[in-house]
Amino acid sequence: MVENSKKKAYLDVAVSICPHCGAPYADASWYVMELGSDVECGTCGRTWNPKSHKVERFLIEFIMDENGKVVALNKR
Ligand SMILES: [Zn+2]
Repeated sequence: MVENSKKKAYLDVAVSICPHCGAPYADASWYVMELGSDVECGTCGRTWNPKSHKVERFLIEFIMDENGKVVALNKR
């Protein structure tokens, strides 16, 4: 019952790896999957498309207390 009383918010994210230098990236899924936008790697400066490379998509669950303060995160 305590768990059910908590407020929850979700963020849909996609995690990918730069194919040029191996730097990891996390972006909002709508940006990667819906737009299919290219990104410029902040580490090596080269441009690539996260949608065409290895991507893991999942939800981050934000558990909030009764005051709306985030107290925990879960991967869904
Ligand atoms: Zn890179």
